[in-house]
This record gives sequence, structure tokens and C-alpha cells, in this order.
Amino acid sequence: MPPGVDFDNSYAQELQGFYVPWQGQHWPDPQLVILNAPLARTLGLDPAMLSGTAGIALLSGHALPDSARPLAQAYAGHQFGGFSPQLGDGRAILVGEMLDPDGRRWDLHLKGSGRTPFARGGDGRAVLGPVLREYLISEAMAALGVPTTRALAACTTGDRVLRQNGLEPGAVLARIASSHLRVGTFQFFAARGEVDRLRLLLDYALARHDPDLVGTPDAALAFLDRVARRQAHLVAQWMGLGFIHGVMNTDNTTLSGETIDYGPCAFMDRYDPATVFSSIDRTGRYAYGNQPAIIQWNLARLAEALLPLIDRSETRAIERATEVVEAMAGACRSAWLEVFTRKLGLPAPDAALIEALHDLWQGRGVDFTGFFRALPAALRGDEAGVLALFSDPAGVAGWLARWRAQIPDPARATAQMETVNPLYIPRNHLVEEALHAASFEGDLSLFETLLARVQAPFTSVAGMERYAAPAPEDAPEIVTFCGT
Ligand code: AMP
Ligand code: MG
Repeated sequence: MPPGVDFDNSYAQELQGFYVPWQGQHWPDPQLVILNAPLARTLGLDPAMLSGTAGIALLSGHALPDSARPLAQAYAGHQFGGFSPQLGDGRAILVGEMLDPDGRRWDLHLKGSGRTPFARGGDGRAVLGPVLREYLISEAMAALGVPTTRALAACTTGDRVLRQNGLEPGAVLARIASSHLRVGTFQFFAARGEVDRLRLLLDYALARHDPDLVGTPDAALAFLDRVARRQAHLVAQWMGLGFIHGVMNTDNTTLSGETIDYGPCAFMDRYDPATVFSSIDRTGRYAYGNQPAIIQWNLARLAEALLPLIDRSETRAIERATEVVEAMAGACRSAWLEVFTRKLGLPAPDAALIEALHDLWQGRGVDFTGFFRALPAALRGDEAGVLALFSDPAGVAGWLARWRAQIPDPARATAQMETVNPLYIPRNHLVEEALHAASFEGDLSLFETLLARVQAPFTSVAGMERYAAPAPEDAPEIVTFCGT
């Protein structure tokens, strides 16, 4: 057992029947590609230990410490609107939980650790490109202040795995989360009518995420409300960054309010609410502009699953849950307004001004991230940078004048805007080139440069202009995939 990793296993111990005990696969030659040493330290783990043989065996799932009780979690989920009663970790395991020096509990989860009984037709594997993609984007989100799972390490396995473009290096992502409980975890037991298990799961979820609600009357309803608020806040943050999750199925909607499952996600370059990158999202269900509506739909599914715990009378339970779900529309709206209020440096929300801006962007090819970074100059009276972003600048000067009139203290507003509007995001063309070099040329240098930029997204670095620039006009449209 590697010294210094002592797993606690509350999920394994308290939630029997919610998983299958399962080991990771043995690999021909597990190697560390990248370790998140600062994150390791905050967890109380020694980066030197994690970089050694036993550490790499742990991070790749090759051989786990005796204190781990690894398992594949069971869950269900609505995928693109259709219910799958049995999903579960098909290519991942929960190794166990770790308590950090502040006593907080974190899951260590390995993605790409081999087939499990939930794998269905899948090969149980992950490959280096998508593993580094999740590493990069989740770390960017963390640096942007968005609740998210974190990447602790990426390892290669020493074998090759068949994907669309041929054989690619097999890889495993080690990730950390405050839990891996999902809306779909409740749905799994609700669909089977197992009310006792639902109750057990609720108690467990409360202990992990809302300990102040443990033992309170109406805890199920209060929990639904908490999850709704966390998710409303989360999706509003995505909207403020132009982030498109891409596969907002209920099995990818956490109870903690953390972003999870960076498969087909991407950041929108030019503003267009209909933007979709995922190859399988043909109807645009998970398009940028639909995300607030979808998260409410997902919370309605959680409400349904919780009904037997909300009230003994089903009619009464439905009434009470409906109230919470309907109130979520207001929570989404105010979280969204708050995000754009901060992005515009406004002293107070101004819905009409924020909506007018979205109308102004429509159909004009505006670089979403660049727009906000051009605002401070416009506040000082230099509008050229903002105007140049619009294919048609009609109405922009008028909007800028309205906006400026709302700002009492330009210096303060600029300082505020620069803490929320990133200069560096994982732009699609940069991500693609970095992952291609890493996967097919064995060259990690572009990945490391891009990672360094997005880990400090608000700080301008001389010579790195390319990393802040909009996508080139001739950049190919990217297409993203699930299950890679
Ligand atoms: P996702 O859309 O990536 O969240 O995955 C949905 C479901 O498919 C989950 O149950 C995953 O564990 C499973 N899955 C995705 N890719 C694979 C794979 N390559 N092998 C086995 N299961 C997979
Ligand atoms: Mg998933």
C-alpha cells in the first residue's frame, strides 16, 4: 500500500446494493502523464509518493491499496430525454474516499479503468486525448471558479485502444469530486420502487452535502430545493462563460452542484444560442441556450424520484415538489442575471440591458469571451475594440452608452470585470491542436502551455496573445463525441 493514502469507504459500507465491488484492470505498462501536484497537496497527498510506482499503480487502477474498497456505482438516467433504467459506471471505479486535512471528504474515481458489469456494449476504456481533454477543461473550470470535479492525474496504460481514427494510447483519468451522486442515482432506485433504498440514499446524500438538513422534517423537499439552487447557480456560471456541457443527461447531473463528465463539452467561440458541438445531439437538445431549461427538466426528474420521501400522500407530494421545481425557473433567472451583472461590472442587475446585449449579439459573429475583455477600454471611451467584434455594429454604440451610464465608478467596475471575465479559456482550436500533438506525436508541450494559461485565466502573459485570440476564420467547426 502506498504510504499516506488511507481510504475511507462510506459509500461501500453504507450503501450496499448501490454498487458492484470491482477492481481496476491490470495494465501492461502504467505511466504517469501528468499529476496535479497542487491539488494532491490540498488533499494531504504527497506528490512524490503519487509519482512513484505504487502511486502510479493507484492512479491508473493497476493495483490499489488495501484500504480501498473499489466499486462500480449503479445509476440510471434520462439520456436525451429517454429513460435508461440501468446505466452505472461502465468504465470507471470509485476507489474510495479521502479525508483532506480540513476533514472534508473526497471521492477518488478512475475513468477508463476497464470494463465493469455495467459496461453494456462498451470496451470499458478511455484514450489519452479525451482524458487530457477532461483534465484540461475541468482544471480550467476550477480556475474560473466553477464548481467541478477535479483532475488529479492522467496515466497511460501501455496498450492501445481502437477508436474512430485508429489505435490510440489507452489512458486513465484520476478525478476527485465531493461525491459522484447523481440525479440518476435516485432514479435507479425510484424506477425499481425501492423506497427503503431511496431513504437510505437520501440520508447518505444529506450527510455528504447538506448535513444541516439531517433529521429535519421535510428533509427530502429541502434537499430537492438545495440541489435545484446549486444547479441553477452552476448552469448560470456555464452561461457566463459560453460553456456547453453537451450531454446534460440526468446521470451527468450531480447532487453536489459540481460539473461532471467532460465528454462532448466545449466553449462557444462566437455567440449563438443554438451552438451544439456533440455529434449525437442532432436536435440541439443540449445547445448553449437550452441549458437553463434542461437543468429544470432534470430537477423535475429528481423531484419525481423523491416523491415517496416528500409526502405520504402522492397528490400532496406532487404539489409540494412541483412548487420547488417551478421556483427553480426564478432561481435560474436570477442566477443568470447575477452572472451577467458581474460580467458587465454593473452595480445592480439590469435585466433589460442584459437582454438587449444578448439581442445585439445575435447573428453577428461576436467572439463571446473577447467581448467582455474589450469592455474596459470601452469604459474609458475607446469603443473600437468592441465595435470591431461585430459583423454589423448597428446599435452597439447606443448599447455601450446605456451601459456606461449605469456605472458610477469605472475603475472599480473594471477591476471587478477583470476578476470574472477570462482572457484565456480552452478554445476549441487550441484544445484540438494540443490533444492531437499529445495523442499522435507524443508531444505534451502544447498541452502544458495551454494548461498553464487556463489555470490562470485572468492574468495576461506577454507573448501569449495567440492563446487569447478568437478562433481563426478558417478554423474547422469542431465535433465532439461521447464515450471516448
Ligand atoms: P456518458 O454519456 O459518458 O456519461 O456515459 C454514459 C454511460 O455509458 C455511462 O454508464 C458510462 O459508464 C458508459 N460508457 C461510456 N463510454 C463507455 C465505454 N467506453 N465503455 C463502457 N461504458 C461506457
Ligand atoms: Mg456520465
